[in-house]
Amino acid sequence: MSKLPNVGTTIFTIMSKLAAEHGAINLSQGFPNFPVDEQLTDIVKNIASDSIHQYPPMAGFPPLLEKISRTIESSYQRKVEPTTELLVTAGATQGIYTVMQALISTGQEVIILDPSYDCYEPSVILAGGTPVRIPLNQDFTPNWGKIEAAFSEKTAMIMVNNPQNPSGRTLNSKDLDQLEAILTKFPKVLLLSDEVYEYITFEEKHISANTRKSLIDKTIIISSFGKTFHITGWKFVSLVAPEHLMIEIKKVHQYLVFSVNSLCQVALSQYLDNVNVNELGAFYQEKRDLFRSLLKESRFELLPSEGSYFQVASYANISSENDVDFAKRLVVEYGVATIPMSVFNADGRDNKLIRFCFAKDTETLIQAAEKLCKI
Ligand code: PMP
Ligand code: GLN
Repeated sequence: MSKLPNVGTTIFTIMSKLAAEHGAINLSQGFPNFPVDEQLTDIVKNIASDSIHQYPPMAGFPPLLEKISRTIESSYQRKVEPTTELLVTAGATQGIYTVMQALISTGQEVIILDPSYDCYEPSVILAGGTPVRIPLNQDFTPNWGKIEAAFSEKTAMIMVNNPQNPSGRTLNSKDLDQLEAILTKFPKVLLLSDEVYEYITFEEKHISANTRKSLIDKTIIISSFGKTFHITGWKFVSLVAPEHLMIEIKKVHQYLVFSVNSLCQVALSQYLDNVNVNELGAFYQEKRDLFRSLLKESRFELLPSEGSYFQVASYANISSENDVDFAKRLVVEYGVATIPMSVFNADGRDNKLIRFCFAKDTETLIQAAEKLCKI
């Protein structure tokens, strides 16, 4: 009997494979196609011959943990204790799985806001939990009344993704107020705040759960070196949690992976001395603005993109096909791969929306837009 009867191959794998088969421009799976900062690749070259190739300590290379703690303090004015409140994991997918195994028990419910990132639900199910998927509003803002109504005695956790993949929306300070108010009413419920795109926000600054005092004691926050430093293939993130939760998370981490890639940890600990994470928003805003302006001539209707490197667009003016068929046809007939949004909804709701990833060099964005404007 399958533990995950409804799980197939991820849409990211399907669309990237289809793009490769048809030689299409791949704006589907989220990853940058431009070079990594030379400072970082130079560090990797320089340290490769050092004695850094054996197991690092279980929770992370101590100098790296120190620097992550400093980065959090300078971004959010929160002091995180590196030895007890931080953990590096092999990507957010593993981090989320580890958190669920550590903190969710059979029969407990986890609230997930749809459209939701694809690994959330399976991680909850594999921990024996029950995912309770609540749709965001049509414009991807949260309906806190509806979300609160989903809380019950069984609720153990709510997962929030800010900035949000796939929608590209962000939570504002009123949203955080509402979330805090609900979690104050339900004091046993934990928050998993997936903030992998924390440094990729545009007009409005990111509001991290790190900045809300009432949340600190109940929240696990995920930050991603993969997204922040254009190195998704390194599969490298850090988790922050209060010590009483981190003790449990580390128990699972210890037997799931024990420790993660030493070379990456040493490289990033050096790189964090030289890099300014706060420049990332402007870097991606330029790409978002370029992509949006190039698509002005198209028949796609662009929804707001406030953060992350995703742009959602409606094709309702172009076709009435379902979004999966439309996205596949876009690859085959027009040479551009995207992600159909319905796959992120529990009920498969199809609002004729597709997601573009604009983490691409200028030439790629221009070529893709030329094709998209012909539709
Ligand atoms: N959460 C979100 C919101 C993501 O977009 C992603 C992947 N891009 C992940 C988690 C998984 O990240 P990782 O590749 O580090 O496992
Ligand atoms: N997070 C990436 C995205 O949203 C996909 C990563 C993956 O393929 N697992 O596109």
